[in-house]
Amino acid sequence: MTTTREKERTRSSHLPFGDQRDSPFYGRDIVSVRQFTDEDLRYIFDVAHEMREMVSRIGAFDLLKGKLLANLFYEPSTRTSASFTAAMERLGGSVIPINEVKYSSVSKGESLPDTVRSLEAYVDVIVLRHPEEGATALAAQYTKKPIINAGDGVGEHPTQALLDLFTILEELGEVDGLTVTLVGDLKYGRTVHSLARLLSRYEVTLNYVSPDILQMPDKIVTEIEESGTPQAVHTDLESVIGDSDVVYVTRVQKERFENPADYEKVAGAYVISPETMKLAKERMALMHPLPRVNEISIDVDDDPRAAYFRQMEYGMYVRMALLALVLGKA
Ligand code: ASP
Repeated sequence: MTTTREKERTRSSHLPFGDQRDSPFYGRDIVSVRQFTDEDLRYIFDVAHEMREMVSRIGAFDLLKGKLLANLFYEPSTRTSASFTAAMERLGGSVIPINEVKYSSVSKGESLPDTVRSLEAYVDVIVLRHPEEGATALAAQYTKKPIINAGDGVGEHPTQALLDLFTILEELGEVDGLTVTLVGDLKYGRTVHSLARLLSRYEVTLNYVSPDILQMPDKIVTEIEESGTPQAVHTDLESVIGDSDVVYVTRVQKERFENPADYEKVAGAYVISPETMKLAKERMALMHPLPRVNEISIDVDDDPRAAYFRQMEYGMYVRMALLALVLGKA
């Protein structure tokens, strides 16, 4: 097993010009949003903002030339895997995609520790999505290379939460003072678990709107209580949408239900339509981590407040920043 301390010791002492071994992120794993300090967050968002500027000016550049990333996905993904690939390639690096683990040795019964130990022989950084909570933390103990959590079951999705926060900053200019309403599957939705934790670091008010059986888990509510963040639970969106600066809608996570009949009871509980948007503030952001399954009507897509496709683009800049930082470029 490899501890963080051992990871530090394995850093090369012959780094090419431009590497910054003193970067607070160099060689670090990204497992949970809880690991970041306020300063870390400011730094990531500053670098992400610079990445955005660079992409709009020159498209791609060679900051990570010669570096390799393994995208190891044990669950389906469109945006997370594609945006990590786009991020790596826009920085001049390359990607080994392992998106269909059924075609890899995992289907022969290989353990997660053995898989990551093997991949670290080839690559500089591993991005992991896995159906079990805690999988990234476990895998991180077995590899010296930085490993990034791209979703661990119902646990966390830290890079999504970072891009969600970056979206709020880019769209609304600030986070402090905002009322953020999280809607839908708050029980199984890992993106809202990470986002609520991250938002509680700021001066926000949180509303949780969900069917009774899909409420935010107690352990997260209790954790957030300690930060003093006001939290309110609702079942109807209409009562809070008019006060919300951000409405963050999630998909009901069908794949996490043990009983399909329970899913049928709550699927379609909330659908944002142009009528719903009439109740919302003129200046607000409507967000969704995507994929959507009818939670937001396509008639809303042209509303300037609909930020979900811009949110995906912001994700690439945040992931460019994270890759550059964990690989020692600042
Ligand atoms: N793409 C997000 C995730 O992987 C949201 C979702 O699947 O609903 O968690």
